[in-house]
Formats: sequence, structure tokens, C-alpha cells
Amino acid sequence: MEDLFDLDLVLEYPAAGVELSGEIQAPEISVASFPGVEVDDESSMGSCVVCMVVFEVGSMAKQMPSCPHVYHEECIRKWLQRDNSCPLCRCRILEKQ
Ligand SMILES: [Zn+2]
Ligand SMILES: [Zn+2]
Repeated sequence: MEDLFDLDLVLEYPAAGVELSGEIQAPEISVASFPGVEVDDESSMGSCVVCMVVFEVGSMAKQMPSCPHVYHEECIRKWLQRDNSCPLCRCRILEKQ
């Protein structure tokens, strides 16, 4: 029992004394560089699936660079911090510089 507990600790905390801050595994994706889409028709735009809120007419949304789906800029930014793919179709976001 004690041995198992120790093993769990080792697995969960990769290396004692190693700071995680220096290494970021997920590449940072700049949502600001995604194409902006002006919402001119609520019904055709639908809603942002991240927060489930309908796009407001006259506001700006962000379109994914690799698919036609659009989201609120804040929503997709948060989403991409943990998942590098489109919430709807799961296509990977390609990094473009
Ligand atoms: Zn949203
Ligand atoms: Zn998509």
C-alpha cells in the first residue's frame, strides 16, 4: 500500500525540483491573428459552442484558420490553451507565422 502511494506521487510530479515554468509544451497560438468575422446575421452565425451564447449582431467573432467555424475571441483563446483543435470539428490548428 505504501509502495503504491509513492509510485503515484512519482508519476504525478515528474521530477522533484524541476520548475515547469521554463518549458511550455503546447505551442502558443495567436488567436489575434485569426481572421475576424463581423456578425451581421444572428441566425446564420448561430452560437459559440464554447460558451453556448449566440453571437451578437455587430460584434466581431474569430474564425478558425483551418475550418469555417467561428467563436468569440476570448472563448477560443481559452479553449486553445488546453486543446489545440477546433471544438466543433476537432481539426488541428496549424501554426502559421
Ligand atoms: Zn463564446
Ligand atoms: Zn472547425
